[in-house]
Amino acid sequence: MSNAPIIGHYINGQVHDTSERFSDVFNPATGAVQARVALAEPTTIDQAVAAAQAAFPAWADQSSLRRARVMFKFKELLDQHHDELAEIICREHGKVFSDAKGEVVRGIEIVEFACGAPSLLKSDFSDNIGGGIDNWNLRQPLGVCAGVTPFNFPVMVPLWMIPMALVTGNCFILKPSERDPSASLLMARLLQQAGLPDGVFNVVQGDKVAVDALLQHKGIEAISFVGSTPIAEYIHQQGTAQGKRVQALGGAKNHMIVMPDADLDQAADALIGAAYGSAGERCMAISIAVVVGDVGQKLIDALLPRIDSLKVGNGMNADSDMGPLVTAAHKAKVQDYIDQGVKEGAKLIVDGRQFNVPGAESGFFVGPTLFDDVTPDMTVYKEEIFGPVLGIVHVADFAAAVELINAHEFGNGVSCFTRDGGIARAFARNIKVGMVGINVPIPVPMAWHSFGGWKRSLFGDHHAYGEEGLRFYSRYKSVMQRWPDSIAKGPEFSMPTAK
Ligand code: NAD
Repeated sequence: MSNAPIIGHYINGQVHDTSERFSDVFNPATGAVQARVALAEPTTIDQAVAAAQAAFPAWADQSSLRRARVMFKFKELLDQHHDELAEIICREHGKVFSDAKGEVVRGIEIVEFACGAPSLLKSDFSDNIGGGIDNWNLRQPLGVCAGVTPFNFPVMVPLWMIPMALVTGNCFILKPSERDPSASLLMARLLQQAGLPDGVFNVVQGDKVAVDALLQHKGIEAISFVGSTPIAEYIHQQGTAQGKRVQALGGAKNHMIVMPDADLDQAADALIGAAYGSAGERCMAISIAVVVGDVGQKLIDALLPRIDSLKVGNGMNADSDMGPLVTAAHKAKVQDYIDQGVKEGAKLIVDGRQFNVPGAESGFFVGPTLFDDVTPDMTVYKEEIFGPVLGIVHVADFAAAVELINAHEFGNGVSCFTRDGGIARAFARNIKVGMVGINVPIPVPMAWHSFGGWKRSLFGDHHAYGEEGLRFYSRYKSVMQRWPDSIAKGPEFSMPTAK
């Protein structure tokens, strides 16, 4: 569709929409191509880095309060454009409007946290550590940083990075997902309106070519990545080999333990939302229910009517609970996983493969799917499906549930439904997963805590946003100072100690 609108790059305050290569952007609810996104070449990356490098000295030299004021204004503008952002998300990602609005809220919360930068960047000071010397710390910006983000949260995940990078005094280049790229340009425009100097924030659209050019570019100091595990691992290896600071958040397979003492209605409601919300395209989606003892059939009995009453349709329809998957290719991949589950012996109780939404036959819909009798050797247990597919694994007791989860290669999120305080405490302490929910199905940490998984769900030393984000985007310096009248006469050859 050659006359489809073009989604361009944003470099030094200008949109650039010429390119040698483009990729189609679909409306997943209808299957139609609605735009074409420009794909950056290495020369586009060179331009973005040059703009960011030119803007860096003045931005880094601003007081943290002035930088925070831009964030205050940005937050106000995000509030004013809340519905517009949510509509863009719905149109390109497919999730339902209320969920998209929630995504924007979770992004705004990081902007609100970043407004506290002057206080957050305040340093420690030790008066007179000895011999008339004072010692204090500085957190200084790194320089030009880049972020590469996934399709499933086109506003929230970029906002895990942008406010944190900017208030610490860095310039930033965002490479959003090529599947839903429009929200990045609206956020760029709002940052400009908020008073951010041109060049401090730039957007390059693109695919692997753009990401590889960012990884190789000597002018980029740090890369934040969020996406699938194989790419996260690649970004971490390549970026650190180039001497960059890298945080790379990867994929997930999140379990929910349902203990025999749990309130099964509450557990079933939680599972329905956590497994099928956003069509399972959340890195914190629950895709495995671990049922302990004799809970299994009772839980299935509670789940079935809830699955039956789920409304699947266009995300812009007010009564839809669940929208389509993001592309036809992703739909086919999820259908293949369900085929594979059947072949490997899992019991398919609800089959969403041939799901039909009347009037939207070309949309990328897969219906809610439920497998029972999933075992740890099955592909549907081991791999991240990233679709509306929930599997049930039966275990004898709590210890077996913990052992099962701890043996999984991913460790992003996990949940346990129980009324027993002792079980809850043992669960929180012993589970090898980064984000833990107790009677909370999707434990996404608040803006002033930090987000990140363990094991192959995160490569690098820092979690995202919160205090960990501040640390990632700043360099620690320790300064010691004294003045000539307190300097003792003559050289000293032993290790300085407090005198
Ligand atoms: P993806 O890995 O396919 O893409 C992520 C980004 O990497 C995109 O910007 C894409 O353009 C780029 N990319 C894709 N292939 C590349 C390649 N070969 N080389 C370099 N760059 C490449 O992920 P996705 O499908 O967009 O998003 C879904 C995945 O993201 C899931 O695995 C999900 O669990 C994960 N995710 C994780 C978190 C988290 O916090 N851990 C959050 C959201 C999503």
